[in-house]
Amino acid sequence: MNSPVRAFKSVGLTPIYVERGVGSRIYDIDSNEFIDYIGSWGPLIMGHAHPEVIAAIQETASKGTSFGAPTLIETEMAKLVCERVPSMDIVRMVNSGTEATMSAIRLARGYTGRSKILKFEGSYHGHADSLLIKAGSGVATLGLPDSPGVPEGVAANTITVPYNDLESVKVAFEHFGEELACVIVEPIAGNMGVVPPQPGFLQGLRDLTTQYGSLLIFDEVMTGFRVDIHCAQGLFGITPDLTCLGKVIGGGLPVGAYGGKREIMEQVAPSGPIYQAGTLSGNPLAMIAGYTTLQLLTPEVYAQLESRAARLQAGLEKNAKELGVPVTINRVGSMVCPFFTEGPVVNYDTAKTSDLQRFVRYFGNMIEEGVSVAPSQFEGMFVSAAHSIEDIDATIAANYNALKNL
Ligand code: PMP
Repeated sequence: MNSPVRAFKSVGLTPIYVERGVGSRIYDIDSNEFIDYIGSWGPLIMGHAHPEVIAAIQETASKGTSFGAPTLIETEMAKLVCERVPSMDIVRMVNSGTEATMSAIRLARGYTGRSKILKFEGSYHGHADSLLIKAGSGVATLGLPDSPGVPEGVAANTITVPYNDLESVKVAFEHFGEELACVIVEPIAGNMGVVPPQPGFLQGLRDLTTQYGSLLIFDEVMTGFRVDIHCAQGLFGITPDLTCLGKVIGGGLPVGAYGGKREIMEQVAPSGPIYQAGTLSGNPLAMIAGYTTLQLLTPEVYAQLESRAARLQAGLEKNAKELGVPVTINRVGSMVCPFFTEGPVVNYDTAKTSDLQRFVRYFGNMIEEGVSVAPSQFEGMFVSAAHSIEDIDATIAANYNALKNL
């Protein structure tokens, strides 16, 4: 098992071994069919095995898979990403979201000459040591908030406060002020389930970081090109200093990226002294898969994602009401998350008020009904452009049965 949550340990079931995927569906090795809302944990916004993405990968692969030398597709990809991400003058490609956030943190520390960082409880930014403190996602699912193996000295440099709690951020700045290199935040939290930022929260982070000379890092590994053609920063109109990307920009191949203001990014080697490198960085297959995916992501696609996801949310809410099951559904665009609680869910503590035993039964029932959702309360559902209205309605019907049989 190459990543924890997919082992289905927390739901006590045998994992689905996938044989293939097409559009909104996956098929397991026993030929069972599922409507899939995991989408490889976010990357597959156009659905599984999109014909144009696959054709582009095949054509590129026929010319060789990796060179460790610059290629045109990397440049084209960088241009496109910088055009679409308002705060990015320069972008650097890496191989995973973890590498992106780890490198951005190093850059923030190197640029500011400070050691401490601030993150939010229940946020997940990959598995770099500094970021595995009170983390979300699989770490939350398995109840391992502070992983063994992270040295105390490293952990002591990570300050954590509750998401959406600007007052606590203020107190942290009053206390640590000039020691804080950066605040790293998921502009829409997606690793404690889905939790939108409350009005003023992101602007407050922008103001405080500016006031204290600290960098604001948006971890848009999940939200980047998922919620808007200009990412969450475009949606909310906030300009971070650095942005981390991954998932969608790899179109289903391994990728991550970080970028931002020219003056900061120029500190990365070779133009500057802060080191970061990668044998497979800017890999042509990952670049073409991501580039093709981004080209397919038109405003019409985002409008469709919004209306299908809104239909799903409305259907799930109606089912829960009709059956008298306390459910709170948080949603931003195509990120949707039902919590088994009266809510509201605004941070990790309130996410944890969800009835996790009930979630486990619900998950098993959804699988029985032929719908694949994440086997964790602390992950959202991803609607893709391949989900038809019929898929959404079939999912709502499956959810009705799953709730009825809890
Ligand atoms: N940041 C966020 C917000 C994520 O959701 C994830 C992965 N779920 C990561 C970072 C880490 O990305 P990767 O799994 O590609 O290392």
